Amino acid sequence: AHHPGFSPAPDSNYADLRQREGVLAALQQVRSQLGKTYQPLINGEYCQTDRTLASENPCNPKEIIGSMGQISVDQAEAAMTAAKAAFPAWKATPAQDRAAIIRKAGDLMEQRREQLVAWVVLEVGKPIAEADAEVTEAIDFCHYYSAEMERLDQALNLDVVGETDRYHYQPRGIALVIAPWNFPIAIPTGMTVAALVSGNCTLLKPAAVSSVIMAKVTEILVEAGIPKGVFQYIPGSGSTVGAHLVKHKDVHMIAFTGSREVGCQIYAEAAVLQPGQKHLKRVVAEMGGKNALIIDESADLDQAVAGVVQSAFGYSGQKCSACSRAIVLEPVYDAFLARLVEATKSLNIGPTDNPGVQMGPVVDGSAQAKIREYIATGKTEAQVALEMEAPEGGYFVGPVIFSEVSPQATIAQEEIFGPVLAVIKAKSFDEALTIANGTDYALTGGIYSRTPSHLDRAKAEFEVGNLYINRGITGAIVNRQPFGGFKLSGVGSKAGGPDYLVQFMEPRVITENI
Ligand code: GLU
Repeated sequence: AHHPGFSPAPDSNYADLRQREGVLAALQQVRSQLGKTYQPLINGEYCQTDRTLASENPCNPKEIIGSMGQISVDQAEAAMTAAKAAFPAWKATPAQDRAAIIRKAGDLMEQRREQLVAWVVLEVGKPIAEADAEVTEAIDFCHYYSAEMERLDQALNLDVVGETDRYHYQPRGIALVIAPWNFPIAIPTGMTVAALVSGNCTLLKPAAVSSVIMAKVTEILVEAGIPKGVFQYIPGSGSTVGAHLVKHKDVHMIAFTGSREVGCQIYAEAAVLQPGQKHLKRVVAEMGGKNALIIDESADLDQAVAGVVQSAFGYSGQKCSACSRAIVLEPVYDAFLARLVEATKSLNIGPTDNPGVQMGPVVDGSAQAKIREYIATGKTEAQVALEMEAPEGGYFVGPVIFSEVSPQATIAQEEIFGPVLAVIKAKSFDEALTIANGTDYALTGGIYSRTPSHLDRAKAEFEVGNLYINRGITGAIVNRQPFGGFKLSGVGSKAGGPDYLVQFMEPRVITENI
């Protein structure tokens, strides 16, 4: 995965005592800073708001991480005016200079890795090692998209004798980024720096429950030298501010990651031409998944069990890449299920400020309630193979494994976004593939098998954007596993890959007769 101009950041190694102590010290330090109020950034100024919203630690909701100022629709308009004013100069800024700012932001994140990990752990209840991998991803997005912009900045030479033909890209204009909470630093940072480095003035609306962590990234972007008006941090209500901006005539580009419901709504609303609007909006939307791992009779079951546990219950199943269906061939079904239940039972569940904890809570009370409803539905549709106790105090949901699940069951079709796994029996490999492809989604998927013909068929027929063979199906790495799917998993292509930045730009050709 060599890329000229990009080298990936290494994750921390918490087996190393010094590094483990470093992150624990950062957690303590961050804890001493909890409860502050953060302000939106509009036109280079941190500004007052009428309303603030508290963000809490899902492990212990009494612990307030911070309060985030929420902008009004008038302030959204002010941000838009500032973005439009800043655009001509940002567009004219050489790509290398834009890239230098974004690279510096990545370097600052790397210097503050431990603090950022601590903010992620506390604000969204993510286990430490997963938070660390996410900070790595955010750093990599900064460095990778900078390198990508420099690559794309080289006009493509299509000359013929007597004529020069140069193919190049220019920014679209104003980008609106609507970000999720489940990767509260990596995904908002990735979408934002992609939009910025390609020359767009960018408004970032974070998810309410994870807005403090991006307030920290806002400080970093300012420190890295992003000019005023070019980047603006605009936390606010989705139904008022978000809806207003999605429909705004001056928005050129919307980058969204989140639920299928909201993504489809944004796609539809963005398609409506507003009075005075002189362009069509481009939408990039990463939505849900109902991802499956197929385990056939030749699979290494130890590997398969470990991969399913990690893919299904990592970050409490709150990843659009999570495995929520294990499709197991009949001859190994009973053995696999028994081992899966045993392995899951040994998971260490609890508050995530403890490095030994493997699974934490879900993000908030409404997520917890919704997941519990799905569990209740599952009990009417399938057998409960395991329902683990959840610790008291936070928004915990113990892992649940359903067996004998029909491929058409609600819990086998709808994205639950929680630690709930449906185990489905297949009579043949053909049937397993049909079941795997039998949802509305096509995001990630995988197969554990040592049968070459099965692997060949999976490569050709498994309808997913990211197919993983003999490993877990989460944790895509920038420039190694460009990430994203199709069908109702989304439109637009592949974060962390070579087609991503071009979506934020308009291609042009200049032909000169000489
Ligand atoms: N990129 C992440 C992964 O590969 C998933 C992103 C998401 O859940 O939105 O696990």
